[in-house]
Amino acid sequence: MDVTVALLVIAVIYGILLFFDNFFKTCMHYPYIRFLEETGIQLKFFSVCWKTKAFNRSLIRWGNSNPRYLKIWFKIGTYVTFVLLPFSLVLLLYSILVNFSSTDSGSSQFVLQPVLPGINLPASELAYYSLTLILCTVVHELGHAIAAVLYDVNIIDVGANIVFVLPFAYVNLCTERFLALRPTHTLKILCAGVWHNIVLSVVALLLYFMLPTLFSVFFHLNSGVAITEIAKNSHLAGSKGLNIGDTVFQINECDVRDENSWYKCLAQTDILKPAFCIEPDLIHQYDESIPLKHIGEGHIECCESNKKENVCFEYLDPADGILELPSHVCLPARRVVERSEHFCSSTPYICPTNLYCFRPILANSTNLFKISTETKDVIYLGLVSDLYRTIHVSSYIPKYFFKTPTLPDAVTKFLKYVTIMSLGLAIINVLPCKFMDGQYITEMLALILFKSHFGESNVKLATSVVNVLFTIIIVCYCVYSLSKSLL
Ligand SMILES: [Zn+2]
Repeated sequence: MDVTVALLVIAVIYGILLFFDNFFKTCMHYPYIRFLEETGIQLKFFSVCWKTKAFNRSLIRWGNSNPRYLKIWFKIGTYVTFVLLPFSLVLLLYSILVNFSSTDSGSSQFVLQPVLPGINLPASELAYYSLTLILCTVVHELGHAIAAVLYDVNIIDVGANIVFVLPFAYVNLCTERFLALRPTHTLKILCAGVWHNIVLSVVALLLYFMLPTLFSVFFHLNSGVAITEIAKNSHLAGSKGLNIGDTVFQINECDVRDENSWYKCLAQTDILKPAFCIEPDLIHQYDESIPLKHIGEGHIECCESNKKENVCFEYLDPADGILELPSHVCLPARRVVERSEHFCSSTPYICPTNLYCFRPILANSTNLFKISTETKDVIYLGLVSDLYRTIHVSSYIPKYFFKTPTLPDAVTKFLKYVTIMSLGLAIINVLPCKFMDGQYITEMLALILFKSHFGESNVKLATSVVNVLFTIIIVCYCVYSLSKSLL
């Protein structure tokens, strides 16, 4: 099912559920009200809330298990959060500058960028996005909860909110006990969420780097890429083209070892037009050249326009002496590439003995590709963007047991999401902004540092102004950035 259709279906389901929820509550339908109370589920406008006390005992046990080590753990977390605070402020200002000064959204740079599936992330990524969001918020709230138990703050309940399709976890603490704490202990509870997000990001990054080793039992690595997806409209699909499961190990003269080198080879091929070492017999046998025609912008043609399979090749003479062969020949591209085993794309265009270097004359954006797989060579005359857009590859080539690289690819993608989003949430959460931990962290820090000099009410007023200011800046930046992605 198309993701947009799925979202529409979910919206309709929400509508129906809200209707019945209102109806049963209005007529005081007792079994329904008891069901809501027992399960802890609550329906709101396009969101579902769920809360439970079932995890309270486990959280209390974990929070009391190793108080000495946990105190050191959260102390480190508090210091790391303090270091992150100025870094986040600078990064926010830098991101705003980059976003306002450049036409693209600064995707290639390390900047803060709001991301929403369907707006600046493909809607098909929604599952990864939602799973990452729930994991990041669970780990975040786990930090607050364990730190709270450590400093004797009661946990009322824990739960999750699903706002339309995006899930968030939360923990409810006893406010009275929390407010009565020493400021240093309050800070440790407040910083625990951000700290846990940083730790999660680092753990996910380490796992990401360890994945190739972990999966090397079941998959070949560094020996090519497996084709995992081919778009239906791809010119490369078909019996003579690429198929799902093929292993590509070379594009023209560029060795493909993994996904990164696949993209590097495509970029290299786009810049460096290939030249082939051809035997004279092939030229004598197939040359169908006509007198040279200049067809604008310095482009030369030596083939008849009705012979689509033929391409005009120019002779690249390394010695720059008397030409031993015609300067331009019209040859069937497929046959040349199939018969040619050597490339001579770069100067000085040297070929083995008795072979001569010829380069196809192609329009600026088109290129001639020899894509070598384990069973055949696929010859393709077209745009490099066709390969970027319509072919998906994986660095994992199945050995046995697994038939496709779906599992390692999915885990790799998920770990990438967790690394980036968990760090992003930590950076955003530490900012002095409404609804973020940063709001309370900065207020508490300011009270510790300046209360004796300026008085409590003045410090609270100043931090409120800073919080409102940053909230406005962040909201404006998010709206601007997302709307820019839509245009
Ligand atoms: Zn938090």
